[in-house]
Amino acid sequence: MQSVPNIVRPDKDPVLNEENPFEAMMERFDRAAELLNLEPGIYAVLRHPEKQIITSVPVMMDNGEVEVFQGIRVLYNTSRGPAKGGIRFDAKVSLDEVTALAAWMTWKCAVVDIPFGGAKGGVICDPYRLSMGELERLTRRYTASILDVLGPDSDVPAPDVNTNERVMAWIMDTYSMHMRHTVTSVVTGKPVAMGGSLGRREATGRGVKIVIREALRELGIPVHGTTVAVQGFGNVGSVAARLLEEEGLTVVAISDMTGGVYNANGIYIGEALKWVAEHKFLEGFPHGEPITNEELLELGVDVLVPAALENVITKRNAPNIKAKIIAEGANGPTTAPADAILDEKGVFVIPDILANAGGVTVSYFEWVQNREGYFWSEELVIKRLREVMIRSFHNVLDYARQHHVNLRTASYMLAIDRVAAVHRMRGIYA
Ligand code: NAD
Repeated sequence: MQSVPNIVRPDKDPVLNEENPFEAMMERFDRAAELLNLEPGIYAVLRHPEKQIITSVPVMMDNGEVEVFQGIRVLYNTSRGPAKGGIRFDAKVSLDEVTALAAWMTWKCAVVDIPFGGAKGGVICDPYRLSMGELERLTRRYTASILDVLGPDSDVPAPDVNTNERVMAWIMDTYSMHMRHTVTSVVTGKPVAMGGSLGRREATGRGVKIVIREALRELGIPVHGTTVAVQGFGNVGSVAARLLEEEGLTVVAISDMTGGVYNANGIYIGEALKWVAEHKFLEGFPHGEPITNEELLELGVDVLVPAALENVITKRNAPNIKAKIIAEGANGPTTAPADAILDEKGVFVIPDILANAGGVTVSYFEWVQNREGYFWSEELVIKRLREVMIRSFHNVLDYARQHHVNLRTASYMLAIDRVAAVHRMRGIYA
C-alpha cells in the first residue's frame, strides 16, 4: 500500500474492535483515503459526522405509564445534497452504529452518483414489544424531536430494520402537521397511495439481483446451475431470493432470525414466502433440512447473499467461506479483517455500498416524483434502476482494475473522491 506521510491520523486504538461498525467503516475509509492521497483538511472533514442528535423520546405506554426511549439521528455529510438515510427501531441501536450507517449512506449515494448526502437514525427499543399505538406515539415523538433537521431539502428518512411504509406515513404526517401543509417528499418508502414510488419495496433486492447478474457475466459463470444462499428473509433477502430464482439461479438455502433451511435441489421461494406470510418466520418450513445461520454462510454455493445484519462474516468464519461471489445485501455484513481473508481467497465481493444501493436509488426516484408531482410507471422505475446499477457496477469494476484494488476499496475510493471533489469546489466557509 502507498504511504501518505502528509496525513495526520487521529490516535487509533491499536487493536481494532472488529465488530464496532464505526471502526469497520473507518478502516475502509482510511485505506481508500491513503490510496487517494487525500489532503489532510478534507480527510479530517470527511472523518467527522456533520451533526449527531441524541434525543429523549418519552412515550405514554398503553398501561398509562411513561417510558423514555433514546432516539438518534446522524447527518454524516450533506455536501452533495440533502441527507438521506433510513431509520431503524432496534434494541441494539447505538450512536456508533448509526454514525457508521450514516457514513455508509454518504458513500453509497456517491457510488451510484445520486445527489444526496448521508444520514441514518434509530430509536433504541424492542419494536416487537410495542403495541401499534405505542409504536405510532414513539414514531411521532421521535419525528417531532428531530424536526429541525428534517425536510425535503435537508434530511429525508426512509425505512430500515423494523420500520416500514406505515412508519414512514406517520413521519410524513407528523412533519406535515407541523408545516401546516402536506409534504410528501420529506420521507421515501411511503405507501404508494400517499406518494410512494412503484418499485421501491423491491428496489434493494432487485439491485442485488442486477449486480449478481453482472458479476456472473463478468466472471463467465453461466446462470443455470449456479447456486445461491441468502441470509435474511426480510425486505432485501426475500426479494433478492425471489428475483434470483426467477432469473434461473437455484436458491438452495435461506434463513431468518429463527434459523435456516437447505435443499440441494432448490427451495421454491414462492412457498417460503407463503409460509412466512402465514407463520411470520421460516421456522418449521418443511421443504428442506434445517440449518443454522452460521452453517448457511459456509455452504458450498456459488453466490452468497448476506441480507440480515452486520458483522456476520468475520475473521473466524471467513476462511471457511466457499462462495465465489458475495453480494452484500445488508449493510456491513463483512468485518474489515474478514475482507483481507476473502481477498486472499479470491472471492468476488460486491460491497454493500454498491450491492444494496438499489433502495436509495429508487428512494431518489420517489423524491424526484414527489417534487415533480408526476409519477412514473413501474417499468420506467425498473428500467432506470437497472441503468444506475449496471453503470455503477462497471464504474467500480473499471476503477478497481485501473487502481489494482478490490471492489470494496474501489467503491470507497470512487465515493470519497466524488465527495471530496465537491468539498474542494465548495471550500470551507469561515
Ligand atoms: P427486514 O427487517 O425486512 O429483514 C431482516 C431479516 O433478517 C429478517 O428476515 C430477520 O428475521 C432476519 N434476521 C434478523 N436477525 C437475524 C440473525 N441474527 N440471523 C439471521 N437473520 C436475521 O430488514 P431489511 O430491510 O431486509 O434489511 C436487511 C439489511 O439490509 C439491513 O442490514 C439493512 O440495513 C440493509 N438494507 C436495507 C435496505 C432496504 O431498502 N430495506 C436498503 C439497503 C440496505
